[in-house]
Amino acid sequence: MSLKSRNALITGSTSGIGLAYARALAKEGANICINGFGEAAAIETERAGIEADFGVTCIYNGADMTKGDQIAAMVQDAEARLGSVDILINNAGIQFVSPIEDFPVEKWDQIIAINLTSAFHGMRAAVPGMKARKWGRIINTASAHSLVASPFKAAYVAAKHGIMGLTKTVALEVATSGITVNSISPGYVWTPLVEKQIPDTMKARNMTKEQVINDVLLSAQPTKQFVTVEQVAATAVFLCSDGAINITGSNIVMDGGWTAA
Ligand code: NAD
Repeated sequence: MSLKSRNALITGSTSGIGLAYARALAKEGANICINGFGEAAAIETERAGIEADFGVTCIYNGADMTKGDQIAAMVQDAEARLGSVDILINNAGIQFVSPIEDFPVEKWDQIIAINLTSAFHGMRAAVPGMKARKWGRIINTASAHSLVASPFKAAYVAAKHGIMGLTKTVALEVATSGITVNSISPGYVWTPLVEKQIPDTMKARNMTKEQVINDVLLSAQPTKQFVTVEQVAATAVFLCSDGAINITGSNIVMDGGWTAA
């Protein structure tokens, strides 16, 4: 399959799953707009590496996913510099772990903004161009937490349940326009997002690091294995293929059996 004539914008792609999406789509020939925070030199290394490794154009836009106007401007920027946004992956996300009574209000607001509302802004801005060209692929990175809850993750679980409602709604709206809208719901993937929540989970549950990894994280996954970023990215590549045209409004769950239990 080739995505040679396609242009893809991936939010939160300076790290983890987002970077893997960018590299997997570039490998199929798509031009890429990466986004996210990080050290400027490290981001430039990733951007230039995608161009060098795959012979595509790769641009960077540093829009803050808590700011709707910056998200709309990023879509316009990618359309202007790449020619279009044919594939939009709403992926940026953060986590915060705390009992509800201590959950900082600003963390709630930030997680809902980055993990849920940013996808609304991105789709709102990108759908008109996709409709005009009668082709589009929108993929939202949800989570096993779009289907089930875990304690101490109020904002994250609320945002991920919300993103599935948003996915289904937009899928219905654009169903006759050649655009599919789906979510991918991984279980635990070993990325900085997971690594960073270990100290807070140790505190909230009074556990050692090893106990958090084995008794909290991997205990949820019957396979007893972390999902890899490459596996998540391969699913996104499939969703962009012609064979996936009738997959829309779906939640592709890849959680090692977590939500089957
Ligand atoms: P990560 O921390 O490696 O990457 C997060 C990305 O989002 C980074 O590029 C970061 O710079 C960017 N980002 C954060 N705040 C931003 C903001 N305000 N504006 C712009 N960019 C911002 O995490 P990851 O594990 O790769 O997570 C990516 C997505 O996958 C998230 O939506 C997360 O909820 C989801 N997810 C992760 C796991 C997991 O186990 N790692 C499981 C299920 C779902």
